[in-house]
Amino acid sequence: MSTAPMQTQAPPSGAARRPLLEVNDLKKHFPIRSGFLSGVTGYVYAVDGVSFSIDKGETLSLVGESGCGKSTVGRTVLRLIEPTSGQVLLDGKRIDDLPASELRPLRRRMQVVFQDPFSSLNPRLKVKDILAEPITNFGLASSARDVEERVAELLDKVRLPRDAMKRFPHEFSGGQRQRIGIARALAPGADLIICDEAVSALDVSVKAQIVNLLSDLQDELGLSLLFISHDLAIVEHITHRVAVMYLGKIVEVAEKSALFAAPKHPYTEALLSAVPLPDPTAKRDRIILTGDVPSPIKPPPGCRFHTRCPHAFDRCRQEEPALKAIGPGHLSACHLHDAGVMRPTPVTQAA
Ligand code: SF4
Repeated sequence: MSTAPMQTQAPPSGAARRPLLEVNDLKKHFPIRSGFLSGVTGYVYAVDGVSFSIDKGETLSLVGESGCGKSTVGRTVLRLIEPTSGQVLLDGKRIDDLPASELRPLRRRMQVVFQDPFSSLNPRLKVKDILAEPITNFGLASSARDVEERVAELLDKVRLPRDAMKRFPHEFSGGQRQRIGIARALAPGADLIICDEAVSALDVSVKAQIVNLLSDLQDELGLSLLFISHDLAIVEHITHRVAVMYLGKIVEVAEKSALFAAPKHPYTEALLSAVPLPDPTAKRDRIILTGDVPSPIKPPPGCRFHTRCPHAFDRCRQEEPALKAIGPGHLSACHLHDAGVMRPTPVTQAA
């Protein structure tokens, strides 16, 4: 497999920024029951008040360590799981409280590409049938010939040969299967695609090819992408903006260039310090976070990051910092941004 250099995504042009997706104070608390018949004994606070928006033609990446709630955000937006509270608006219309019958036609516009294309593709169906299913389900073709033409066009779009339609998923490589997954997301004419760790399981060179394909499709079709990933090195190549999550909350949001050049939240600083530099001879200080991520069943009081933050001080243990603007389009939730609070030197180690 050849190595494809990654393209760098430019921000969408045009003065009119209109959100395709708006998420306001979204919460998903999973109830805990100690036995089959017993009542609720607690909650997993997987997503605990998350707000963001995505413009048409824009990519927002949701990043953070495993278990921070980013995939739950994606599934709740899609209503694969029901939100506990909060609002989700698609093109200005609330969808979080729509009954299933009214939600169904809107599902056509929101599709998902999962991490493991093999388990998300029906192994008993040929590619033609996999791609035909959403086309016929949403009534987008008038005849069998029309369906076949649309399937052929989808394969062209994801750069697979047209004879791929006669084969089964197991006959393809991981990268090819992910192209089929992307084609299936495009099949109903989606304008929002949620990529949930969509390239995490692929080899480095294949990752680059899939990221480049998504960028090209975004340019061609004006897609909006919610790109969920723990891999900041990949995110840098595809995104316009980044939202960093920690323990169910967004702690920093910024344009990609601002976030990668000068992260403001101590957690983002630590995440970025672990990203390898393109020049293997270059060195940077790695910020070592001590301790484990606390349980989302009992998040720490005050700032949720205070148990691992190298800058934590008394106020952090008592008062939760609000996510607030610290620059144009740049939000961060940290008491250090308040006037008069000095920042101690972090504990670092040469990477
Ligand atoms: Fe660290 Fe305190 Fe800022 Fe939280 S509020 S990130 S504990 S300095």
